Amino acid sequence: MARYTGAVCRLCRREGQKLFLKGERCYSDKCSVGIRGYAPGQHGQGRKKSSEYGLQLRAKQAARRFYGVQENQFHHYFEIAERKQGVTGTNLLRILESRLDNVVYRAGYASSRAEARQLVGHGHFEVNGRRVDIASYLLKAGEVVSVCEKSRQSEKIKAVVEANSAKPVPQWLDVNRDAFSVKVINLPEREQIEAPVDEQLIVELYSK
Ligand code: SF4
Repeated sequence: MARYTGAVCRLCRREGQKLFLKGERCYSDKCSVGIRGYAPGQHGQGRKKSSEYGLQLRAKQAARRFYGVQENQFHHYFEIAERKQGVTGTNLLRILESRLDNVVYRAGYASSRAEARQLVGHGHFEVNGRRVDIASYLLKAGEVVSVCEKSRQSEKIKAVVEANSAKPVPQWLDVNRDAFSVKVINLPEREQIEAPVDEQLIVELYSK
């Protein structure tokens, strides 16, 4: 399935909530959810009531869009989450959080997950000292992500790191700004994951 290339703010408006897809703008009063808090399109301000299936579908779409994951890959993550011990919904979120693009974004080395994906794809990051350009790479506890030595001189990378230096970092990550690195201390517990996602609805959807 092709990646969505339209206006990303429409995705937030469709889900009726901020999905933080655009970096700085998401925290400003230019955010479209604040300005036009209804779904896009001709019938966007029309019927609001949703069926049970509709709610489950929206929960899945919101999570998929929040993390920038394609449908097939999302379903694949769900299957892995199901096979793991523990609560399936929490397992799913932990898998999504452990993606390399997400960790780069959470650590403040990119303004959005989309930017993180692009920077990773362009080969600016290493995992345990080896270059990794796959945004969906799933990190494990103890692994260290760092900006490649050469990329640290890049004006773009410097500007991004500088712009996000004050961003709060989740407790499960240990960021070292001087070394341009972040260590995954452990994969997050549910309460450590800030995401506008109702994972139980996703589990219900896929369990039909
Ligand atoms: Fe656009 Fe960000 Fe607001 Fe979403 S949260 S509508 S991406 S500005």
